[in-house]
Amino acid sequence: MIPYARQSIDEHDIAAVVQVLGSEFLTQGPVVLRFEDAVLARCGSAHAVATSSATAALHIAVLALGIGGGDLVWTSPNSFVASANCARFCGAEVDFVDIDPQTYNPCIEELERKLSIAAQKNRLPKALIAVDFAGQPCDFTRIAELREKYGFSVIEDASHALGAEYHGRRIGSGNDADITVFSFHPVKIATTGEGGMALTNDVGLAQRMRLFRSHGVTRDPAQMAPAEHEPWEYEQVVLGYNYRMTDLLAALGCAQVARLDAFLERRRAIAARYDRELASLPLTLPWQAPGRRSSYHLYPILVGDESPRNRRALYDGLCERGIAPNVHYMPIHLQPYYRRLGFSIGDFPVAERYYGRTLSLPMYVDLSDAQQQRVIDALREILA
Ligand SMILES: *Cc1c(COP(=O)(O)O)cnc(C)c1O
Repeated sequence: MIPYARQSIDEHDIAAVVQVLGSEFLTQGPVVLRFEDAVLARCGSAHAVATSSATAALHIAVLALGIGGGDLVWTSPNSFVASANCARFCGAEVDFVDIDPQTYNPCIEELERKLSIAAQKNRLPKALIAVDFAGQPCDFTRIAELREKYGFSVIEDASHALGAEYHGRRIGSGNDADITVFSFHPVKIATTGEGGMALTNDVGLAQRMRLFRSHGVTRDPAQMAPAEHEPWEYEQVVLGYNYRMTDLLAALGCAQVARLDAFLERRRAIAARYDRELASLPLTLPWQAPGRRSSYHLYPILVGDESPRNRRALYDGLCERGIAPNVHYMPIHLQPYYRRLGFSIGDFPVAERYYGRTLSLPMYVDLSDAQQQRVIDALREILA
């Protein structure tokens, strides 16, 4: 089976992990710091907090911004559930901004319309969780204008977008969001097995996220109660979690980030070949807005109304030919948990229509030219 995504692990990745097994630290230690520095060196922001997952990073991001019960957080319905759940973990209410029909990212006109209504009702969101869907950055210039006007924070869920660029700026530079979160799940751009990271230029947010990452506990006298402290003392100053990354996984992360340019080049080459080879088929291929450079976590195609096959027939046809595509995403608001909170079909029609037609084609570094040709030939055959 050709999957839609998978990790790429080479001998250097393996050697890096094995080396840490013989070292003093297995849990968070010097290699986690090295991994944080390696990602900062790529992205350009000032502070990085490595975590056990992107979900954990999103949770501590929301906590660090002081968001809790009674607050409102907005995100994209076209995302993985963690983009919304992180606000629910903190007791905040979640609402969604329908997507742009071309980029599948939050629609800026819709965001603007919704904000102006929210301002009249005095019910503005505390934060927008902007999801860079498939690896294509959101429209951060417009988001910055609206954030200035309405005063909300921006958390960027860049789980798909490590290595992506917005008008020449690296995603995670700290210019476009208060906090940017990456995922190192095996299907994402680079992996640590499970893992995530939150980047920010704000030293206060970074400090708070580090506290929440590790039980709310500190040994920093500046964060402890003013007193003479014994050398063994630590203090718990907030209610935190154990969201630490291990040095074992950070070693894999360092080795993977060293391969990031090669990863991005391969993903972009695969996308360019799909763009070329599928152009004449009755499909909508992923459109790139000006000034964005996608990291191509996903290659989502849309089955057109004019197509001889619907999405399910295309899915089944590919499976029969040894290819396992996937679908990203069932809109979050249609998940049973969110329906119980009051959402229903029709609330975000663009995301719902998109979901009805989309299919994510195989897209990963180790997909060979011959395997990609099999995918292309299968699509031609099924759609003939
Ligand atoms: C994968 C993903 C997450 C969660 O990442 P984990 O590291 O698995 O916790 C969150 N948001 C988006 C958009 C994702 O794709």
